[in-house]
Amino acid sequence: MRNTALVCLLLAIACSAGGADWSFTRQVYSCYTSGMTFQELADAGVTYISHVPATPETAEEAHRWGLRIMPYVSLYKVVDSRESPGFRTQPFWREIDLVDHPAWVLIREDGERRRPFDDPNYPAGLYQSCCNQPGIADAYVRGVENVLATGADGVFVDNVHPYPTCYGPELGIHEHLYPDEDNTEMYKRALMDVYEAVKAHGADFAVMLNSGGPRHEYSGHGDTLMWESFVFRWPTDEMRRDPARLCRTHNWAAVLRAYEQWREFTDAGGSIAPLTYLPARELEKPHAFLAYACAKLCGFQQWTATGEERQDILRQLYRTDTGMPTGPPASDGAVHYRPYERALVAGNSAAEPRRVELPWHLDDPRVADLYSGRSLMARDGKLRVELPADSGRIYVTQDAYLANCLGEAASMARSCSLRLGAVGRGDRRVLGVGAGGAARVR
Ligand SMILES: [Zn+2]
Repeated sequence: MRNTALVCLLLAIACSAGGADWSFTRQVYSCYTSGMTFQELADAGVTYISHVPATPETAEEAHRWGLRIMPYVSLYKVVDSRESPGFRTQPFWREIDLVDHPAWVLIREDGERRRPFDDPNYPAGLYQSCCNQPGIADAYVRGVENVLATGADGVFVDNVHPYPTCYGPELGIHEHLYPDEDNTEMYKRALMDVYEAVKAHGADFAVMLNSGGPRHEYSGHGDTLMWESFVFRWPTDEMRRDPARLCRTHNWAAVLRAYEQWREFTDAGGSIAPLTYLPARELEKPHAFLAYACAKLCGFQQWTATGEERQDILRQLYRTDTGMPTGPPASDGAVHYRPYERALVAGNSAAEPRRVELPWHLDDPRVADLYSGRSLMARDGKLRVELPADSGRIYVTQDAYLANCLGEAASMARSCSLRLGAVGRGDRRVLGVGAGGAARVR
């Protein structure tokens, strides 16, 4: 009996600390910090951050604010530390160094070592891996274990996509561990080994996979799938001439297709993390709302963006607790909308403004437009709104809007008082020096 009680107690502790029912759909995710400190991100409700250094100092600072971190790794790559010696001291990359394992590189048809994406200008020292080699899968697991040993809470796995053929055996350059298996299959096995190793640390240790666009075939190999360049992509110099047009990756038809492609996955509790690169400083607010609304229409809960100017808008959107969808998206002409537990999300796909009446499903008829802060009143279960051309909007109760604004104000006050105290003490850590970047309130 005593043992039974102990087991129950341990199970209860395990579950309360992120046990079997843990899901990434309840996390608030930020890719990079966009120049914000960990404290600012934590005050915005963020719980998980990727693309931060795999160092004990970073993990300690993140945990101080209740944040969890997923440093960057890639099973698509190996390194040659003769060309870039810094890899030798990195917890992940030092395990997959071609200096120690010269056969672990993918061989092109012409016998050359293949660079990532076959791009000769790719950053120095990086090559594409041949995953059909003895020991390489274990090395990837060791590298990830090294990252977790610095205190990290998971890993962001980049470049999760199918492989080209490795011509190593055909050209007599190296042999394959399983001659009948292709690199795509061997890569998947290595990825599953990494996923299982991370989950062995606890259900709330996370693996995010980035295949560019999410791929169904990898949905069982991680906790969440990134959709990189959702609605907008990173501008090249050429695109900066007209970023709103040239950087647009998904029009409204593509967004509605994305919903259809992934509705079964998201309805079953799957997590997708769309990453929007806000392409124009002066348009960061309307673009962020547009991309956020598109993500929420699709049921993609872990939307994140990188911004240069309007970190306050990113924090406002991260802090918006919509809850889960309470129904599928619906349309009124060109206007698409979707009810959530604590919000109504809407978007206008037309090239001109639209005035519509949307069904308001929450008990409290006092509504706020999160974009403008304007108060609205729902009447007879209807909300009359006007949406600008090609825009996204979020409607919440006025109480929720006030709580969101007060959350930002309280965060700024805490930030100021901490920094004033830090200036007095000369405490570099609280000043935000290091992983979180410079102190900034925008
Ligand atoms: Zn090979």
